[in-house]
Amino acid sequence: KEKTYFSLNRMIDEVLVFLYPSILDTKVKVIKETPKEMQLFGYADEIRQVLINIVFNAIDVLSQYRDDPRIEIKGKMVNETHIKVEISNNGPAIPENLLKSIFEPFVTTKKLGTGLGLFVCREIIEKHKGILACTSEPDKTEFIILLPAANDEP
Ligand code: ADP
Ligand code: MG
Repeated sequence: KEKTYFSLNRMIDEVLVFLYPSILDTKVKVIKETPKEMQLFGYADEIRQVLINIVFNAIDVLSQYRDDPRIEIKGKMVNETHIKVEISNNGPAIPENLLKSIFEPFVTTKKLGTGLGLFVCREIIEKHKGILACTSEPDKTEFIILLPAANDEP
């Protein structure tokens, strides 16, 4: 397994295609705003898995709580060196106690959950020298991914 250069914009599109059956099922409206040229360097499979986990968690919560479910995915360069991806949904706020522990292994509120999704996501992002965080208030739960941008494309 090797690190590669890849387009974050295209990867988000792939993830949305992969999750399309669940998006259709739950009637979630997905709004995506990403500059075309954002490049990352890393283990593409792993970063894809992070995006799938976070978006799928959002679909999951929206399918239970909302009748106008929305997910927004925004990518941007924060400066010359870092890319930020914000994935938010208009679901209920995560209670403060739970919010503190969602990245710990085996923390889940789901009957059939493993509680491993976000734990693995954070491991992957940190392995790529990035940061994964979450903020939550009523109608807006947001996962923020900060990653070093690929500098010199071969
Ligand atoms: P799992 O999905 O198996 O429960 P995760 O690690 O992916 O495990 O998530 C842990 C918990 O974090 C979930 O059970 C849920 O309570 C909470 N959570 C994750 N994403 C969201 C979200 N977008 N909105 C509300 N709660 C969330
Ligand atoms: Mg999950």
